Amino acid sequence: MQHKYALVTGGSRGIGRAICVKLAEAGYNILVNYKGNTEAAQQTLTLINAAGVQSEALCFDVSDREEVRSVLGGWMEANKEKKIEVLVNNAGIRNDGLMAMMADEQWDTVIDTSLQGWYNVTKQVLTPMALNRYGRIINIVSLSGLKGMPGQTNYSAAKAGIIGATKALAQEMARRNITVNAIAPGFIKTDMVADLDEKEYINMIPAKRFGEADEVADLAAFLASSKAAYITGQVISINGGLYS
Ligand code: NDP
Repeated sequence: MQHKYALVTGGSRGIGRAICVKLAEAGYNILVNYKGNTEAAQQTLTLINAAGVQSEALCFDVSDREEVRSVLGGWMEANKEKKIEVLVNNAGIRNDGLMAMMADEQWDTVIDTSLQGWYNVTKQVLTPMALNRYGRIINIVSLSGLKGMPGQTNYSAAKAGIIGATKALAQEMARRNITVNAIAPGFIKTDMVADLDEKEYINMIPAKRFGEADEVADLAAFLASSKAAYITGQVISINGGLYS
């Protein structure tokens, strides 16, 4: 595994951090992407290093195509012997509001981070992965992209867009031993939902609780493993029974 890397976008906090740690425990060296929170990224590196693998933090904004090319593309160019075998597209934001009241900027930033960010990073990594004839691409989407959530037209559209891309890309890449799957979490305890009071929501969740980032990470680690070779183009929900 000396030269095998997993890249996790938005790996500095929350679900992304938990996935970094699980993939490190599985033996992957980890590239931790983040947007600006260097302290959180450093904490993730410390957790990864405890698993005895290599790790590096790469600061770039996934929505900025030029920055993705220069920082991620630059790393790939400078480290040609290192192979990104696993890509976890996890970086995402929410900026909720009813459509009638939504500012253009609210629409643009959510679409640009999730959907354009997905394209920018995946495009950068895809060709070398195809040449290597092995890969795992895991996209963190949302129940909101499956069901549609009022107050989240921007977020639902971004996540639904990634679901469509997941299904299409899976069919393009299957012959090259690259699987492409999506994970659709319900409510997971992270900074993203820190403004929501769990007690107000649990009555509608059959499992009567929010999920843990580690639970999402275990699923991601399985999809990243060689055991999941025949699973591709799927959207797997992890939501305590909230929606199926
Ligand atoms: P957090 O808000 O806890 O963490 C977000 C992470 O994304 C941070 O690491 C942040 O970096 C990074 N990030 C944000 N914008 C960018 C950007 N433009 N470029 C690079 N990195 C960026 O989120 P969660 O862990 O909760 O969410 C992770 C994913 O899971 C998201 O895609 C989210 O939509 C999805 N999800 C979450 C659910 C939940 O209930 N928590 C439910 C369903 C889906 P930095 O630290 O530098 O700011």
